[in-house]
Amino acid sequence: MSKAKLSAHTQKSTCCYCGVGCGVVINKQKNGSITLEGDKTHPVNKGMLCSKGLNLHYTVNDKTDRLLYPQMRYSKSMPIQRVSWDDALARTAAVFKTFIQKYGPESVAFYASGQCLTEEYYVVNKLMKGFIGSNNIDTNSRLCMSSAVAAYKIALGEDSVPVCYDDIELADCFYVTGANPAWCHPILWRRVEAHKAANPGVKIIVVDPRTTDTCGIADLHLQLNPGTDITLNHAIGRVLIENGDIDVNFITNHADGFEQYSRLVFERSVAEAAQICGISERDIRLAAQYIGQAKGFISMWTMGLNQSSIGVNKNLSLINLNLITGHIGKPGSGPLSLTGQPNAMGGREVGGLANLLPAHRNLANPLHRAEVQKFWGGTEIAAKPGLTATEMFEALNDGRLKAIWIMCTNPLTSLPNVRLAEEALKKAKFVVVQEVSNKPESLAYADVILPAAAWAEKEGTMTNSERRISYLEKILDAPGEALPDSEIICRFAQKMGYKGFDFKNATEIYAEHAKLTAKTTIDISGLSYEILKQQGTVQWPYKAKKGTGTPRLFTDKRFFTENKNAVISAVPDTLTSELPDNSYPFILTTGRIRDQWHTMSKTGKVNKLNQHIKQAFIEIHPRDAAQLGIKEGEVTVITSRRGEVRVKAKLSAEIKQGVVFMPMHWGKILGNDLNRVNNLTNDAVDPISKEPDFKYCAVSVQKYKKP
Ligand code: SF4
Repeated sequence: MSKAKLSAHTQKSTCCYCGVGCGVVINKQKNGSITLEGDKTHPVNKGMLCSKGLNLHYTVNDKTDRLLYPQMRYSKSMPIQRVSWDDALARTAAVFKTFIQKYGPESVAFYASGQCLTEEYYVVNKLMKGFIGSNNIDTNSRLCMSSAVAAYKIALGEDSVPVCYDDIELADCFYVTGANPAWCHPILWRRVEAHKAANPGVKIIVVDPRTTDTCGIADLHLQLNPGTDITLNHAIGRVLIENGDIDVNFITNHADGFEQYSRLVFERSVAEAAQICGISERDIRLAAQYIGQAKGFISMWTMGLNQSSIGVNKNLSLINLNLITGHIGKPGSGPLSLTGQPNAMGGREVGGLANLLPAHRNLANPLHRAEVQKFWGGTEIAAKPGLTATEMFEALNDGRLKAIWIMCTNPLTSLPNVRLAEEALKKAKFVVVQEVSNKPESLAYADVILPAAAWAEKEGTMTNSERRISYLEKILDAPGEALPDSEIICRFAQKMGYKGFDFKNATEIYAEHAKLTAKTTIDISGLSYEILKQQGTVQWPYKAKKGTGTPRLFTDKRFFTENKNAVISAVPDTLTSELPDNSYPFILTTGRIRDQWHTMSKTGKVNKLNQHIKQAFIEIHPRDAAQLGIKEGEVTVITSRRGEVRVKAKLSAEIKQGVVFMPMHWGKILGNDLNRVNNLTNDAVDPISKEPDFKYCAVSVQKYKKP
């Protein structure tokens, strides 16, 4: 539908679930509710929507779970009660000021979300880093993307996804690893499926310990042992070198580190690698052959590589395959990390993680800190990185952190070893929860609850996995006294007495953010809301003189490193995860199901989506189940060193023996937390990215016996 044909009651927006970033056309009904359909003119989805996107309107039409008014309690022993915005923010500011004065700016923290709009991220990051004076602002993107961010920085010089989705139709080999896009990024995957259907010669390699729906169109499924991704990638690299299927010109002129890499991958034979990975040598050689013969090669990955205590090295070992074959910066080629959240990319653009600065500036660089400080006009920006997601909750537990402000995320379902996070919120001196829904468990620990506007109730921008910025219109009024997140943060900053937060609207916030990107690699300084409204969407950097975005990066083979060369990293494949033993003999891996998203605060409201899979389960191989005397549908007790869950068994030969799988969506339901997989998971993190190891911990499985 063209802009001109949109009626007064029809507006455009972007789906707020995954990082694919599909366009939707919203029809506002006379009764104030909305319906929606896929935007046929949108370059990402071309009218398609997955089950989650198709049902998105129900989540805003149903207001029964909405937080409507600010609430506050004056002491931990008092009940929480309705107050005015003014009282809630004045007291919160007074408490924050007291802690900052007494214990320093590192005693307070903000824990935000990849669901925030870029403008919201921008103001909270500015507030914490530029005015409060510590870098204690992190988001739940730490749990999903930070390993990819760190790897891009090492390999390419900056956190920059080189490809665009239109490269899909130009590629003839896909290496999909640690991802199930058929369920988790469905519309992107439909484009791959359609491309393969039209071009049967296109090769698809799927790497996963489970046989997922993504394997449905795979030419080759490498069902590797969990945690052996680097060994596999190195072995494929070795075969590519042996076969001469590498790009010598690219390696010689545009990359560093090949010799060391080559020495490393030749230390292990392909046969030995195959044994470690639990797959055949033939299949490794076939994967290398498919990649080696491709004219366009896209590697695609997400949490299976990122959520690991060796996540950065897993990412680097994969990006190496694109670098040694020269498959980067040209049509149909490049590494494409898929983001789980709608605006994880936008958050990174504004520097909204504890170790980042706006527009890909470097926190460790004093000139960059000074530049941002001058622009903001606030306090000196601290050189020390702030607390990351899991570190914040550790610091609440040991008393270093006194106050935490949780913004649009549900840590008591989503954090690893989640009982530690529960303890942390119990011990916290002051907890602020800024939320749309009355469901998240963290509300029970809040001293102040601030009601936030939902998707379609506020204006702003988001950036999807291919650097595409979308403008989202405000379509509905928020119920009760709920406010847009950016307005809440700006009102609070003003109560703190800080200047520079008197934005009249999201347009002004965006304009300031865009200005700060000038002369950086993500430059959108010439891109206004007006242009976005006219053009629909734009991929950064925006070339103002030409009036176009940038579909593909590194076409000149000049990377963002100091010497402009990409870096091929010789990373070790030593696994640092918690290994199985006699007491905990199974490897637990976690993941998503098709029709739920994150902790279900939105998708869980939609009956149709709940019909797909109604409750949490454990997937276990029938031979493992038989040995344990467990039958299909029987309740099992799964235990790790950190906790326990009790869920029904789903027997499936599609998972490897010795490995069990549980979905990550379910939390505490009516006081029962025995569906919550994060009772079990390990809070060990990658030493560089600080991303937790959700995909690998040791558990025991037993049939439940009534006491
Ligand atoms: Fe929304 Fe992602 Fe589905 Fe697209 S693929 S409709 S962005 S959930």
